[in-house]
Amino acid sequence: MTGGIIRRVVAVCAVILMSLAVAPAASARTDMLLRTCFRTAADGDRPERLFGTGAGFDCQRSQRDAPPGDYWVRSERLPVVEPGVAVRSGSLWQDRVTLYVRYADGTIRAVGFTSATAWRYLELGAAFELPLPAAAARPIQLLWHVQGAANMRGLVLQPQLLSPDLSQRYALELTAFYAGFVGLAGALLIFNVALAAALRQRFHLPYCAMVLFLIGYAASSSGLLGQVTGLDNNLRLRLNVLLLAATLCSALLFAQRFFAPQVTRGWLRPAMDVTMGAVLASSLAYVVFMPVQGRMLDRALTLTFLATLLLTLPLLWRGWHARDRYARAFAIAWALPLLTATARVLQALGLVPWNFWIDNSTLIAMVLEACCSALAIAWRIKQLGEERDQAREQEMLARLLADSDPLTGLMNRRSFLREAIGRADRHVLVLVDIDHFKRINETLGHDGGDQVLRVFADALRRAAPPGALIARIGGEEFAVLAPATATAMPETILTRIRAAAMPFDLAVTASLGSECGTIVDEAEWKRLYRRADDALFAAKRAGRDRLRWAEAA
Ligand code: GH3
Ligand code: MG
Ligand code: MG
Repeated sequence: MTGGIIRRVVAVCAVILMSLAVAPAASARTDMLLRTCFRTAADGDRPERLFGTGAGFDCQRSQRDAPPGDYWVRSERLPVVEPGVAVRSGSLWQDRVTLYVRYADGTIRAVGFTSATAWRYLELGAAFELPLPAAAARPIQLLWHVQGAANMRGLVLQPQLLSPDLSQRYALELTAFYAGFVGLAGALLIFNVALAAALRQRFHLPYCAMVLFLIGYAASSSGLLGQVTGLDNNLRLRLNVLLLAATLCSALLFAQRFFAPQVTRGWLRPAMDVTMGAVLASSLAYVVFMPVQGRMLDRALTLTFLATLLLTLPLLWRGWHARDRYARAFAIAWALPLLTATARVLQALGLVPWNFWIDNSTLIAMVLEACCSALAIAWRIKQLGEERDQAREQEMLARLLADSDPLTGLMNRRSFLREAIGRADRHVLVLVDIDHFKRINETLGHDGGDQVLRVFADALRRAAPPGALIARIGGEEFAVLAPATATAMPETILTRIRAAAMPFDLAVTASLGSECGTIVDEAEWKRLYRRADDALFAAKRAGRDRLRWAEAA
């Protein structure tokens, strides 16, 4: 059953991942990418002298190898392009970018932005789209002047020429992608806030915080926040880091609270605490000190994120071996973000080239994680429900044991009194005492005596009307209470007892005392009981094996 569900979840996730892989990706298509060369900017550099060939441009080294600073980046000669074309490149930490375009007639025009005005060219997917200035001649080459580049991912990230049609298509695809994510995350948030309010489980709060931070991260890292608020681009990049760190810390906190204590026992718990501290510290350092020591801060950040990833390995391993269904579903759910986050860390370390889907893998992975963890949370809730039902059952059983006589299964004196007292309607009370029970014990032994008690209990159950209270209130003394309308009940009980088959066909008789009355309070009970007991005593004195009513006593 569990295996089946897990297999299905894995299959669905695989299909989603595959469809993402084959989807018309809005990432740069390699056939449209512009090849570039770069060189350090120097005083007195004039764009018109830097176009063409030569001028000390390096076309071999990776842009990432260059230290932070000011640079010129020159494209290859452009193919023939239609009018209205724009150049798209990934958003980076830079103070100012100016794009010079050289046209076939020798003219040069410029377009550009600073970190403060970058939002005007920011498109979904956190890419800049700079329209090539319109001119009579066709554009033949591009030259970027990049100032204040922190250069952690490159100088001009995957530039490509984009027709208006394609630009629109990218916008559409990316809107669908982010809308899908925000829709899912929003639903997940509302669902979990509602569950948090209903169930008051400690793990829900960090989970809700995680989803909230993630939505914030999606809004910021997609560029949407920049477009809407006109936020300074470098400030937006700082915000990205802070929101991603907050997401990771909430995820760790959630894991600590969600998994059973044996999963996080030993060194893992303090290690998680230390990692959360490191993630927060490195992200705060990034926010405060960037762009000074940008590379070191970026490395530190990447390493703490990597530490978070590494921590999830023992967590998932233990969760898997805890043999809890929900822990296993979680192991699967978190394995996906783990894979994509690993790809992202590799990208940040420069070990794999930049790619839109890797850059946004946090979002994709979290969507998959959200689906799986919804299942896991459902499992956990089912488990909590089962635990609660079990506890209730045990409590009922305990109460039943406390209220009943273990030998006969009848009510005991305590529960009989609790149920009887407070009845304002007139009731008939019958007290039954076995005659010469001491002798029966002597004849049959104690076990035989117990058997006789059970036969009596059975006879009383058969004789009493439905809803009557039947109790063993003393060693060989029973009480039956029924509404006063059951006037024939005492006689019926006597008949039943006489007819009952006793162990070894022993002749066993009983004496009965009866009285009618209300039992509003304890005083009334005592009066009723005393009168019925007097009647019983009268029956004993009159020769036993008979019934006496109190009036007659
Ligand atoms: P009487 O006809 O006057 O009621 O005589 P009796 O012998 O029945 O009355 P008495 O109250 O003297 O004795 C009750 C006996 O019941 C004494 C006790 O050993 C026995 N008894 C009490 N509880 C149990 C029990 O749970 N199992 C058995 N086998 N005997 C019990
Ligand atoms: Mg007795
Ligand atoms: Mg007796």
